[in-house]
Amino acid sequence: MYDPDNIFAKILRGEIPCIKVYEDADAIAFMDIMPQSDGHLLVVPREPAAEIFELSDEAAQAAICVTKKLAIAVRKAFAPDGLTITQFNGAAAGQTVPHVHFHIVPRYADRPLRGHARDKQDVDLLKQHAERIIAALNEQQ
Ligand code: AMP
Repeated sequence: MYDPDNIFAKILRGEIPCIKVYEDADAIAFMDIMPQSDGHLLVVPREPAAEIFELSDEAAQAAICVTKKLAIAVRKAFAPDGLTITQFNGAAAGQTVPHVHFHIVPRYADRPLRGHARDKQDVDLLKQHAERIIAALNEQQ
């Protein structure tokens, strides 16, 4: 059962703010406010689905294309040693927000990942990171 009052639904409706990096007809991408590493980004399909099982094929295809495009921009902006893309379904799998989304998490060989959804990052720093990703996206287009 989809909860239309989950926090990402509110962000999609513009009821609460986010540090936006990208949006199109199918998805929005913004900085994770509790990033596990510098550059941690979320891609959120607009379609209301709690888990990937309810997402239409069309929305899933669009979301993965947006995720790939943004992963390329994050890699360009942060030059990490690696990059993880994850998507959690259900609390037992670690999902904390019940609207399907993809994590783009840069990985740095010399820095361990921070905890999942644990510590809020400084907003100004997140905005600086967003600007770096937006600049990389603009160069891609
Ligand atoms: P998951 O646990 O896969 O559902 O991931 C939810 C993610 O959303 C976590 O990494 C949180 O840090 C992040 N998060 C929670 N609230 C917000 C918010 N208001 N803006 C941006 N990211 C958020």
